[in-house]
Amino acid sequence: MVDVRIYPLTLAKIIRHSTMFSGIEVAGVLIGRLVNGVVEISDSDTGPQIGTTGHVKLARYVAPLIAEKLHRQGRSDYIVGWYHSHPGFGCFLSPIDVDTQSGLQKMFSKCVALVVDPYEFIISGRPRDAKIEMFRVQDGRIVTLEYEVVFETDKIIRNFIDNLERGEDQYVTSLDKIRLEFYEWNRKLEEKVGFVTEEIKQIREALANILEALKQGRRIS
Ligand SMILES: [Zn+2]
Repeated sequence: MVDVRIYPLTLAKIIRHSTMFSGIEVAGVLIGRLVNGVVEISDSDTGPQIGTTGHVKLARYVAPLIAEKLHRQGRSDYIVGWYHSHPGFGCFLSPIDVDTQSGLQKMFSKCVALVVDPYEFIISGRPRDAKIEMFRVQDGRIVTLEYEVVFETDKIIRNFIDNLERGEDQYVTSLDKIRLEFYEWNRKLEEKVGFVTEEIKQIREALANILEALKQGRRIS
């Protein structure tokens, strides 16, 4: 029995991320759920991080923000693991990776650590050449997990549609945000114009009073 199932689009996203900055390590989180004891990874996400040729660190707030976003989107998926790249030096867990993974397993015992080395893929252009392995730590030892790529067309298309819809949601949200900002800016401008108009009106009235007083030869109080 396999330990993990992963959707092709998620694999593509992870490989793509690792090739965007091929010289340095990148990292992100794996999103999915537990289905009959198998961790099903249906998405990935990431955020601000610092990466070098042999190390990567996601900003502390990235995972909580992603968890919050999943909740906001009303998804029943959650964070099931993390991924990071080893550009050109193969797939394994370093002592630091083991520490990270052990810590995460305390929060979610089925937590998956995915490591990708895109080096061969960058040279050949064939996705199958990207090395991808998944691990867990058991009794202090690193265990390589068995995984399969989801191959049912119906499920793959559904997963693709979900991703597209989420992309559109983000687009709509950002457009709405711009509209709201514009509205707010407009409202402030109207407020200012209203204030200035009122000031001009008061000055005009004061001037009219002065003129009237001068005409009547009275002292201006
Ligand atoms: Zn590593």
